[in-house]
Amino acid sequence: MKIVRFDYKGKIRYGLIEGDKVHLVKGSIYDNELLCEDEYFDLDKIRLLAPTTPSKIVCVGLNYKDHAKELSMPIPDEPIIFLKPTSAIIGPDDDIQYPPSSQRVDYEAELAVIIGKVAKSVAPQKASEYILGYTCLNDVTARDLQKKDGQWTRAKSFDTFCPVGPCIATGIDSSNLEIKLLVNDQVRQSSNTADMIFGLDSLISFISSVMTLLPGDIIATGTPKGVGPLARNDSIKLIIEGVGALSNKII
Ligand code: MG
Repeated sequence: MKIVRFDYKGKIRYGLIEGDKVHLVKGSIYDNELLCEDEYFDLDKIRLLAPTTPSKIVCVGLNYKDHAKELSMPIPDEPIIFLKPTSAIIGPDDDIQYPPSSQRVDYEAELAVIIGKVAKSVAPQKASEYILGYTCLNDVTARDLQKKDGQWTRAKSFDTFCPVGPCIATGIDSSNLEIKLLVNDQVRQSSNTADMIFGLDSLISFISSVMTLLPGDIIATGTPKGVGPLARNDSIKLIIEGVGALSNKII
């Protein structure tokens, strides 16, 4: 299933993509059984939004072997985690704003996990029960400020620095998905989730031993090799197999 959050004439709702239509969801997408109303919308007449409104976005640093190699960094023995604020979230086709205080803004293509139910100190073997689905997330980063500050909060947290979408894809095997990022139609990142250092089971277990994860929360699982800078007016397209494409422009 592909769950979308959308705006139609100022009203925000959830639906399921069925061909070129969106089938309106009844109740909450976090209910045990997903039910639909007898109401459909044309995909081209609605505006897709970020598919979740999380309480937090937990990001994982350095989680692809090819990226660690590219940076000549040792493979970490525990995940490095940090937070992005929810105020940074934008949806498909929304613009990323280049902040005047940075001279170097990078893209980072990431597979994002959407949590489906309250998760606290979850054992790795049980972690998959807490996943609702997957989406694309661009962990936009002011690289110069990240280096300057040491702490990552400013570099990762500008408004618009967290494009998310286009849908929550459920029922897919996330262990072997192609992940790609294109800038102005040129491939800049091309990898596979199979190259991750810490798999989703161990990430959910590790993070939920630190903080309780709530339905809708996002875990951004790290970026593969090929990160690089963006220039104003670049078009960015992040594609994950089985999920879809997230397109944004930076202005
Ligand atoms: Mg990242």
